[in-house]
Amino acid sequence: MKAEIVMIGTELLLGNTVDTNAVFIAEELAKLGIDIYYKSTVGDNWLRMIEVLSQALSRSDLVITSGGLGPTTDDLTREAVAALVNRKLKLNQTALKDIQMYFSRTNRTMSANNKKQAYIPDGAVGIKNKWGTAPGILLEMPHNKLIISLPGVPRELKGMFHESVVPFLQAKIQKSCLLSRTLKFVGIGESHLVEIINDVIINQTNPTVAPYASLGEVKVRITAKAESESKAQALIQPVEEQLKLLLEPYFYGVDQDTLEGVIGARLKTRNETLACAESCTGGLIAHRITNIPGSSDYFERGYITYSNKAKVEILGVDSDLIKSVGAVSKEVAIAMAVGAQKTANTTWGLAVTGIAGPSGATEEKPVGLVHIAVARNGHTKSKVYNFSGNREEIKFRASQEALNLLRQSIE
Ligand code: ATP
Ligand code: MG
Repeated sequence: MKAEIVMIGTELLLGNTVDTNAVFIAEELAKLGIDIYYKSTVGDNWLRMIEVLSQALSRSDLVITSGGLGPTTDDLTREAVAALVNRKLKLNQTALKDIQMYFSRTNRTMSANNKKQAYIPDGAVGIKNKWGTAPGILLEMPHNKLIISLPGVPRELKGMFHESVVPFLQAKIQKSCLLSRTLKFVGIGESHLVEIINDVIINQTNPTVAPYASLGEVKVRITAKAESESKAQALIQPVEEQLKLLLEPYFYGVDQDTLEGVIGARLKTRNETLACAESCTGGLIAHRITNIPGSSDYFERGYITYSNKAKVEILGVDSDLIKSVGAVSKEVAIAMAVGAQKTANTTWGLAVTGIAGPSGATEEKPVGLVHIAVARNGHTKSKVYNFSGNREEIKFRASQEALNLLRQSIE
């Protein structure tokens, strides 16, 4: 079933109203497994409404409209729908009663033009509106075409959609479900990742495989369409396994997983503890680690050793070492990690030292140069990066790669 949504209201074109109804309808249709092919917005203008609606009806099976069902003269949707399908407007007794009840319930007087709202195209079904006055319109036509018109007021539209439209569409279509799973990767750029999994991306239609990059990580979304959730899950699973295998060193989690959460869970099950020493990340790693509830079980402490003096005094880094190789160096990163692990007496020590910029760079040490080290019982591992981006981005990327180095070390 091809669906199309038509948002009606001059205020939407002028930008006076944010079109939240379109977002809502789009999300709801996706949940039902119905594809939206087009979305249009049109003002409260008779000719243009007819133009947009007839185009929608010519190319889509289901047209859902929002707005213009009110009692005033600029509310033209019911007239436009009737004209479009060449039907007369007919007084719907149930809708009239509902409107009268609404007014008596809310202790208001019903004006004559409210009666206008009880008119719907001949042959259409009125959609009950418990949240306001205007009933919606549900009109089934030959060739399995369907128009559903709902009021613009979000509360009314949502209520009616959930109460009447969803059950109707569920029964109408062979129920189908759209299920997505997002795999998360770190330590690899988007283009390199796409190179590795290009065959999978090209050859898959159900599920589809779509990579997208965000700061410091790449995600791959697998989306399957099937009659039921379990069938969609069964389609996703082999593709998920294949991707995990191809990208094994970079894979860290799925859906809502975070790097800090994954690390926390691992440290907790292994009964291990962590201390970190941060220079250019300024506590960001500790902040991310402690965003996880229960992190006190494994996070001992974090040092923000920004100055050389702090690195020497707090972590016991050799001042001569700093003099000879500089604070932003592999050697100092390792000494910081070892220092943090020893002074805090933890299983792991994690350290970062780098140049977040925009100043502080030299010929040999550009902005974005970051050394990361991890230490455990005298064993150390280190990595060097040249990150791009502004100061904040470099800090985030550094925290991300530091957490990733720790993640790989814990394995
Ligand atoms: P009413 O009976 O209030 O006239 P209606 O069905 O005629 O309802 P509109 O007049 O188009 O609907 O819109 C009523 C109000 O609903 C607007 O003033 C606006 O605040 C809100 N609204 C309309 N369309 C949208 C939309 N697409 N997204 C979010 N809000 C909307
Ligand atoms: Mg209106």
